Parts: sequence; C-alpha cells; structure tokens
Amino acid sequence: MSSKKTRVDLHNHTILCNHATGTMEEYVQKAIESGIDIFGFSEHAPMDFDKKYRLPLEKKDFYETSVLNLKQKYKNDIDILLAYEVDFMQNIPMLDEILNAKVDYLIGSIHFLDGWGGFDNPEFIGGYENKDIDKIWQDYFDTIENMAKSQLFDIAGHLDLIKVFKYLPNKDIKLIALNAMKAIKKANMVVEINAAGIRKPIAEAYPSKSLLELAFELDIPITFSSDAHEVEQIGFKYDELTSLAKEIGYNKASYFKNRDRISVTF
Ligand SMILES: [Zn+2]
Ligand SMILES: [Zn+2]
Repeated sequence: MSSKKTRVDLHNHTILCNHATGTMEEYVQKAIESGIDIFGFSEHAPMDFDKKYRLPLEKKDFYETSVLNLKQKYKNDIDILLAYEVDFMQNIPMLDEILNAKVDYLIGSIHFLDGWGGFDNPEFIGGYENKDIDKIWQDYFDTIENMAKSQLFDIAGHLDLIKVFKYLPNKDIKLIALNAMKAIKKANMVVEINAAGIRKPIAEAYPSKSLLELAFELDIPITFSSDAHEVEQIGFKYDELTSLAKEIGYNKASYFKNRDRISVTF
C-alpha cells in the first residue's frame, strides 16, 4: 500500500499571452521546487477576439513545441502537460485548430458575457453596477451550462469567476448554479480548485465552499490550479486548497493525458 500523495497543478499561463511574466523554464523550475508532480501549461487559446491578451495563432506551434521540449528536458523531475484554457462564448466561435489540438486537456472558461467584455477586468467593474446582479449571475451560470453541454472540455475553469469583485447575488448561489453543475457532471468534466481568487478582492478560491459541497454531492471530480501568471504564483496557497477539499470529503484529484482522465490521491 503506497501512501504517496501526488501534487497536481493544471492551470498555468506563459509570457506568450502578453499578460504574464517569467520564462516557461522558470515556471517549470519553480514547480519542481514547490514539489509539484504534475504541472500543466494551459495558455489562453488563440481566438478571433480580445487578441491582445491571448496566445497569437501564429505562435501556437511555438507554444506547443516549447512545452513538449520542457516536458522532455525535465521528465525525470516532473510530469509536464500540454493544454489550453479556451474562452467559451455564446456568439464567438472557438478555433478548430484548438478544439482538435493534440493536447492533454482543455479547460473551458468564461471571462466574457454577451456584450460585456472581461468581467474580471477592473476596467469593466461598472458593468456590475448598472445591471441586475442576480441576472448577471444567472447569465454567467447559464453560459457555464452551455459550455458543459458543448462536450468540448475536460475542466471547468475558475467556476465562479463572476464573484471576483465581490458583487454577490441575492439569490442562493447553489440554486443559480445547479443546472450548470448537473451539466458538468453529465459532461464528465472536472472542477478545478483555483487559487487565483485568493489573490483577488473576493479573497477566496474559485469555487466557493458551498459550490464545492454541491460538486461533492453530485460526485464531480476536482483538480488543483495556481492559475499562475508569474513565477511566484506557482503553488500559491496549495495547502489551503487541499485543506478545503479534504474538509468537504475529497481525497482524489484528477489530471489528463491525451484527454483521458487519471485520478490520484492528493
Ligand atoms: Zn490570464
Ligand atoms: Zn481564466
């Protein structure tokens, strides 16, 4: 009987998205130092929208080759995975080159709602003040539900990112999210526990404890993510994330190879 615990960190960016710092190799070295066993690069995937803050399509091959070269170079120290974080939007198509890319997994994320760009960007904070907060939240989780139903993704990225600036709904969040969560379960997707929220005004991981409890009730698997955009963010608050997960009842984390899910004890 092995009591080996595996440390997984599946959501990390690179300098190629134009809003992150540090070299990819520094990320890998920091991950090794932090005791991470499975480390995934999941760059913001190219698409024909908000192009300034994502990997350019022309650099897709360069990104993939760089990850695979690092995977080879550090294979005795760490298992490096290749992935994308893909923006799911109702009206803007995703690129076939990404959806069919030869990757380990795809994270589906919502950073933009219909006609309202980058709601996690402080520039757009006014959007919360001028709208019905319960409707914003319902629109957001309806979009998550559609994302799950698309069957294109392995992981639901930062599930309740909409809370980032602490504009919370009046209605019970579990009720708002229920159909989205059921769709995630049905699509056989994993929910990541993402540390980035701890660095933001909401000051807690994505998703909240109550949504994680709902995920556990629905038997949805989890994984862990730093969502690092700088070297120092790798491994950020990992112990806090795992304690939260254990408190709820989880003891397994998932990762993916060639889109197949693997479960390990964390
Ligand atoms: Zn980013
Ligand atoms: Zn994201």
